[in-house]
Amino acid sequence: MNDCQMIREAVEAYCRRRGIAPAGWSPRAALIDMDGTLIDSMRNHTAAWKRLADELGLDADRDEFYLYEGMTGRATIRLLYKRAKGYEPVDEVCDELYVRKASYFNEMPRVSVIPGASEMLTRLTQRGITRVLVTGSRQLSNLDRLDTDFPGAFLHDLRITAADVTKGKPDPEPYLKGMELAGGLSPEQAIVIENAPLGVKAGHDSGAFVLAVTTGPIPREALLDAGADLVFDTMEQLADALPALLDGRC
Ligand code: CA
Repeated sequence: MNDCQMIREAVEAYCRRRGIAPAGWSPRAALIDMDGTLIDSMRNHTAAWKRLADELGLDADRDEFYLYEGMTGRATIRLLYKRAKGYEPVDEVCDELYVRKASYFNEMPRVSVIPGASEMLTRLTQRGITRVLVTGSRQLSNLDRLDTDFPGAFLHDLRITAADVTKGKPDPEPYLKGMELAGGLSPEQAIVIENAPLGVKAGHDSGAFVLAVTTGPIPREALLDAGADLVFDTMEQLADALPALLDGRC
């Protein structure tokens, strides 16, 4: 199957599911995840989480943190405590521990941007697609660098972070709030760009069309199982597919 056919079939399947005509599908905003989608930060995040868990005596495997990608820090800390000690710490304790984890992240070498992420954002911008950041992170060092790494791509009032939601991914709340922020869009007017199963599930459950990319050890099957409409092996491939997807040339 060529790319064009793959894209057309994915859009047709999505439109059938949402009860709309493929000819009428015309996304106006892209809701875009940060870690693992824009910046290659997951290796550092998993190492920082593992260090924190070890220090607290909470048994954990470093790779399991790839599966929690997208969850808020509070949710990850609650999960670790519940499993190891049978209780969940109060929010204040979670927030203190998250600050510690964030400081471990900051001690590590600066992470690079995901190859193809700039091209992806440029193609969206050229087509007049509004870009909204939707991240479960509160890591200020990463949020602050977006303006440097991707100048003009994300307006400051078009960003959803862990501070803006009560539930966080895999709940659809962050993506639904992103649609609200983009001007009260319907799910059929939004696409989601994600790299992790919990984020893909959040996007899928929000009703948006979900583009997923494998940028870490998580296999493409896990992204399809979570509800991705299209999965790409690299962000470059995703960026290359945007003209066909958004210009309706397939
Ligand atoms: Ca991610």
